[in-house]
Amino acid sequence: MSASAPITQDVLTIPRKLPDGGKVNLVGLTRDQLRAALIAAGTPEKQAKMRLNQIWQWIYQKGVRDFAEMTNLSKDYRALLAKNFDVAIPEIVSKNVSADGTRKYLVRIAGGHEVEVVYIPETDRGTLCISSQVGCTLTCSFCHTGTQKLVRNLTAGEIIGQVMLARDDLDDWTRQGEGMGERPRLVSNIVLMGMGEPLYNFDAVRDAMKISMDGEGISLSRRRITLSTSGVVPEIAKTAEEIGCMLAVSFHATTDEVRDKLVPINKKWNIAALLDALRAYPKLSNSERITFEYVMLKDVNDSDDDARRLVRLIAGIPAKINLIPFNEWPGAPYQRSDWDRIEGFADIIYKAGYASPIRTPRGEDIMAACGQLKSATERARKSRAEIQKDAGL
Ligand code: SAH
Ligand code: SF4
Repeated sequence: MSASAPITQDVLTIPRKLPDGGKVNLVGLTRDQLRAALIAAGTPEKQAKMRLNQIWQWIYQKGVRDFAEMTNLSKDYRALLAKNFDVAIPEIVSKNVSADGTRKYLVRIAGGHEVEVVYIPETDRGTLCISSQVGCTLTCSFCHTGTQKLVRNLTAGEIIGQVMLARDDLDDWTRQGEGMGERPRLVSNIVLMGMGEPLYNFDAVRDAMKISMDGEGISLSRRRITLSTSGVVPEIAKTAEEIGCMLAVSFHATTDEVRDKLVPINKKWNIAALLDALRAYPKLSNSERITFEYVMLKDVNDSDDDARRLVRLIAGIPAKINLIPFNEWPGAPYQRSDWDRIEGFADIIYKAGYASPIRTPRGEDIMAACGQLKSATERARKSRAEIQKDAGL
């Protein structure tokens, strides 16, 4: 099965009111969009930048959604904002907490669609794994999300909204009178590794990540944001130039023959083309190294020869290799490699000079681990036969 074309999305440069007179949601608007919206609503041009910074601090640093609470703005101005705008984020439908502390949120977005968001607490950080699409147009044969037929791009507001709802749930906002950095942030890292292919929803992902990195926005360093792609080659240089975050790539195989089956986008952009794009990334984005994700599938991609080929292929690219033991899901056509095989593989990579952490599956008991995400309520599920056909089995 070949990769599907990207879904296009209408992006409004100046947010307009909905035909029914509905209010414009400020969450997810870029600096330029918000500035234009504030001016259109009557903010004097000279004040727009200052107002924007104040509003962003309330929304993205303090978690305030009610204009009445934005106390450094005049009463009249607060009324003007309330008349024209909303501060709205997606709604948590349910929350599961794993025995290991991982939290999985099922989140409802406009149109009744659902996506999943996972929070993974670690000793030195807290990572939020967010989604960029409902489902995924790609059909990687080992990935649960790829079996979901219904796909829609998330808006920038829905993407940054996932960060905001997790901060709500974790009580992770800077409170009034409390300086930034006084208590450790619970959401200290963001990974775009949930549902969807982020580079098939480029503009919305970029806009949301810019808000995450902005000093008046969520204020996370770009080194704390990792975008994972299956290998949408033409968008990789754009990611470096327009977002500049860390990059992870779902590599998963060392020959085109195997990668064609596991990550079908490989038929469009093969390993050689992907490696060319990756070689250019660190310089373009000024980031140190690329993470190569490699899912360990028993007897498919886990031999010593694979490990040696992998090392040869990535020679010269500053890299970290993340070995992911396959996470099972109902009807999956693969099995996880045995533990000693994973260690043998890791050893070859380590001896070649690469960090090769084996990612401990987190939140497996609540189906929150990598590749297990898929809205439980999503009924348009592919049959097992279809999954196996796509996998070329
Ligand atoms: N679409 C993007 C990001 C989401 S997937 C991408 O493919 O990179 C996040 C990571 O989980 C990817 O490396 C993906 O290949 C991996 N993954 C998918 N299904 C998995 C599974 N069942 N077990 C382990 N990892 C999986
Ligand atoms: Fe989509 Fe990534 Fe899953 Fe492939 S691994 S189907 S690109 S979410």
